[in-house]
Amino acid sequence: MSVTIVWFRQDLRLTDNPALTAALHTDGRVIPLFIDSSADPLPWRDGAASRWWLHHSLKALSAELARRGSGLVIRRGPAERALRQLITETKADKVVWNRLYEPAHIARDQAIKREFKQQGVAVESFNGALLHEPWQVLNASGEPYRVFTPYWKALQRSGLEFPLSDAAATLPPLPDTLESVPVAELGWLPRMAWDAGFRPVWTPGEAGAQHQLERFLETALADYTTGRDFPDRPGTSRLSPHLHFGELGPRQIAVAVLGRMRHFPSECPESQAFGYLREIAWREFAHHLLYHFPSTAEQPLDARFNDFPWTADDGPLLRAWQTGQTGYPWVDAGMRELWQTGWMHNRVRMAVASLLTKNLRLPWQHGARWFWDTLVDADLANNSLGWQWSAGCGADAAPYFRIFNPVLQGQRFDPEGTYLRTWVPELNRLPDRYLHQPWTAPPVVLREAGIELGTTYPLPVVDLKQSREAALAAFALLKEAN
Ligand SMILES: Cc1cc2nc3c(=O)[nH]c(=O)nc-3n(C[C@H](O)[C@H](O)[C@H](O)COP(=O)(O)OP(=O)(O)OC[C@H]3O[C@@H](n4cnc5c(N)ncnc54)[C@H](O)[C@@H]3O)c2cc1C
Repeated sequence: MSVTIVWFRQDLRLTDNPALTAALHTDGRVIPLFIDSSADPLPWRDGAASRWWLHHSLKALSAELARRGSGLVIRRGPAERALRQLITETKADKVVWNRLYEPAHIARDQAIKREFKQQGVAVESFNGALLHEPWQVLNASGEPYRVFTPYWKALQRSGLEFPLSDAAATLPPLPDTLESVPVAELGWLPRMAWDAGFRPVWTPGEAGAQHQLERFLETALADYTTGRDFPDRPGTSRLSPHLHFGELGPRQIAVAVLGRMRHFPSECPESQAFGYLREIAWREFAHHLLYHFPSTAEQPLDARFNDFPWTADDGPLLRAWQTGQTGYPWVDAGMRELWQTGWMHNRVRMAVASLLTKNLRLPWQHGARWFWDTLVDADLANNSLGWQWSAGCGADAAPYFRIFNPVLQGQRFDPEGTYLRTWVPELNRLPDRYLHQPWTAPPVVLREAGIELGTTYPLPVVDLKQSREAALAAFALLKEAN
């Protein structure tokens, strides 16, 4: 009887999981495996928020596999050693997995593939994470795209409809003898309970992802292109961590959104369906860029920025930004939402990134690292694209050097201060007109609101106008020199 190991990584689902489907077609034994890769020499190890997610997601996957008569074998890495050991124990003749796109993962997986094939073990990999593979969507000269709009057009031409496979109702049983590390022993939950704010807002796992998708389709998709800009509304799908861990694939999303557009056109007009799929396409584009330009996680895509005059490493400014103590309430609200829930609304991500890289002129890599540790949706492709775009050194950067004004952004996208008051409660009693710039409030208003600037809430850490001019001057010099 054939024995196939299904190596789960960022594809923690049973529905439309191409590697699992292929293993089940062999009609032999199927061994679902997860490897704790912390022992592999990978440059971007999961951050603390990702480990929290992974702990809960693996528990959910184990339970779903067990409900269907199988189970999840969890082993400690390095990956190659763990796989080799399991092949010996089970006499497996085949290993399957869904592909990853981080450069170090690609290198590791290729080495493992070569090694096992030489030893007579079949290895096959699949696309479980993207609409289309990065090497399939290329421009007329066969080159990768660097600008989003033509990429999005090409992606649509490649097709947004896919046949999906259902989750199997039953799975072949596991041999009794296989050892597995209990999830709790992997030590991924925090020792100090900083996750209290995570628990009420997230349900890691495939069922949580499906539920979140249905909620979004029914309540927010109809008004997505407007609602997505307002962080006080549940106007976006909040599917990013589910997508990162593959609890739901983008193909499932595309099929669900297009299906809704067809069956309920008045509730889901084409503009909204495609407005949402366009964001899913940004995720594809990010993976496309990381695949074709693998150094973008560390280096600016626009090489001129290697010479950008970043401020010398400033511990106190970085710390003020990380802890939501910059004195700019819109930015502080975002940074505190991030710390407390592991997520931040996209509109606010752009503003906090702009303040860090333009006004404080700290290197974008500092921000990317902090996001990497604190986001539950930390994703090397999306995070690198988001930071490089914000710093102005990435693909599709605005032709002018865009600097967000956190006061105007807050006034426009949170006019009543609902979002801001949730995350910066010490400003609760300030009238709306001063909320986004408390330093402009007359002393009597501050006193009545119980605020002492510099004590109960910080004064701005940087002058917006001066720092903006300094950033523009630095950019102008860069343009002149190159
Ligand atoms: C500085 C910065 C850093 C970021 N880091 C990450 C990150 O580590 N992980 C991450 O998933 N996203 C990142 N983003 C992109 C975006 O902010 C999040 O994907 C989005 O806020 C997730 O919320 P949502 O699922 O409700 O999004 P929705 O608006 O519902 O969008 C649906 C999905 O489309 C994808 N998407 C949406 N916008 C983008 C975008 N600009 N770039 C790439 N994919 C996108 C995401 O997978 C998202 O889940 C970053 C953006 C910025 C500006």
